[in-house]
Amino acid sequence: MKCTLRDCSGEYQERRVSQVFTRDGQSFVVEGIPAMVCDVCGDTILNWSTVDRLLRAIEVRPEPEKFLPVYLFDKEVA
Ligand SMILES: [Zn+2]
Repeated sequence: MKCTLRDCSGEYQERRVSQVFTRDGQSFVVEGIPAMVCDVCGDTILNWSTVDRLLRAIEVRPEPEKFLPVYLFDKEVA
């Protein structure tokens, strides 16, 4: 499928992506979400029915598989 962004000649490819979600002020990452990603500009289309199923699954089984450090982007670095 051709990219939906104007002036982009790319095509969407099936990929697995990571996405950050926030719920009740807590952020969490989900890896391996099936998505369509433009091979030129990187525009990403998530299948929202898949995401919805996944978020429900997380509610049922809230233990994460992995833990990762979180860094804050600070003025000192910029
Ligand atoms: Zn594109």
